[in-house]
Amino acid sequence: MRSVVTTSYRAEGTPYSEDAPASQALFDRAKTIIPGGVNSPVRAFRAVGGAPRFMERGTGAWLFDADGRRYVDLVCSWGPLIHGQAHPEIIAAVQAAAAHGTSFGTPTAGEVELAEEIVRRTPVEQVRLVNSGTEATMTAIRLARGYTGRSKIVKFAGCYHGHVDALLAAAGSGVATLGLPDSPGVTGAAASETIVLPYNDVAAVEAVFAEQDDIAAVITEAAAGNMGVVAPRDGFNQRLAGIAHANGALLIVDEVMTGFRVSAGGWAGLDPVDADLFTYGKVMGGGLPAAAFGGRTEIMSRLAPAGPVYQAGTLSGNPLACAAGLASLRLADAGAYQRLDELSQTVGSLASQALSAAGVVHRLSYAGNMFSIFFTGTDVVDYDSARTQDAAAFKAFFHEMLAHGVYLPPSAFESWFMSTALDDDALEIIGAALPKAAAAAARSAQA
Ligand SMILES: *Cc1c(COP(=O)(O)O)cnc(C)c1O
Repeated sequence: MRSVVTTSYRAEGTPYSEDAPASQALFDRAKTIIPGGVNSPVRAFRAVGGAPRFMERGTGAWLFDADGRRYVDLVCSWGPLIHGQAHPEIIAAVQAAAAHGTSFGTPTAGEVELAEEIVRRTPVEQVRLVNSGTEATMTAIRLARGYTGRSKIVKFAGCYHGHVDALLAAAGSGVATLGLPDSPGVTGAAASETIVLPYNDVAAVEAVFAEQDDIAAVITEAAAGNMGVVAPRDGFNQRLAGIAHANGALLIVDEVMTGFRVSAGGWAGLDPVDADLFTYGKVMGGGLPAAAFGGRTEIMSRLAPAGPVYQAGTLSGNPLACAAGLASLRLADAGAYQRLDELSQTVGSLASQALSAAGVVHRLSYAGNMFSIFFTGTDVVDYDSARTQDAAAFKAFFHEMLAHGVYLPPSAFESWFMSTALDDDALEIIGAALPKAAAAAARSAQA
């Protein structure tokens, strides 16, 4: 007999697991030997309830789960797969690289080519390849501290930069507060080096620099995508650069989500900014683990072995990851970005129209071709406004979309990820699911 999850958004209590017996069985096995059954928390469906779907394969716009159900993929591995699942050219590049060996622990031509492609597209002069966005931001901060000889970091509430100790801090809203640990295990000492400010609030940044002289860097998402999508106000990023530089600090712009997605050069391609360091990940790995940070040579040359700031990685610049990343970037031409822009407009408007027709209050929020829907009547400019969302309405909406074959991020605080592989069939399925999901959200709001 299969076990049944009791979590449910429906008053009548239909368990979601009813729909996914094979996923449920795998999840039960996983939970006994993997904490929470997953290797990254948001995969666990905690925010929406039910058993996560265990995916078996993907092709183009489609995902297939362990129960053989097909979904339109609007997660795209949380961003990397802008060309869809198993793009033939990316798979061929990985296969060709694997046939030559999976790792050498020596420099390779592929790393040089990927680094050259990144430098060609972005403002950075030099780049170091790492394995995850977390590593990229962690090292960018170490480098900023090493370069400036200062300790403190300013970050914004609701911006996620990976699970780096110093960056897991968030704090009360409004005033500049010294961070408190967001997670047990992050020491008070680490968190106290982090100052958390409200996103989009230039005055708060000016105020904190007026008080503090030990700030090494300000770090911000190029456009916020991890509290749902919240665009920076016009000129916000460049103001941060101005304030940081006037005070001898650096600006780190985190493009791990936006990089190579919103334009060929990332957010900096749409909204140029004099940042000192940039971080990249997701799209640049084409679905394999690859990330990077880069900046001016003057700063990057402080990194070992050229300089004293230490950083290393056994698998950094892995040949398979470089091959996948390079293939993915080579496919990301002007036509691909135009397609992503169009699709994000199309899918965003379809969703907003369906919600309006069902009478569900919401905000459709764009930053370039990233967007998300906030289930709130409040304009979202920062984390506090993002948190005015009706979580129950999103849950109902999410599960109805899932039941009708659309796989959305299982959290109301995430971007919906488009890929160029979304075709007319996929759009038709999305279009058919949306009114049903909007009706479910409306019922939940009335309940
Ligand atoms: C995903 C993400 C990270 C972390 O990247 P990982 O590869 O998951 O470690 C950092 N910053 C931003 C903006 C992200 O979206």
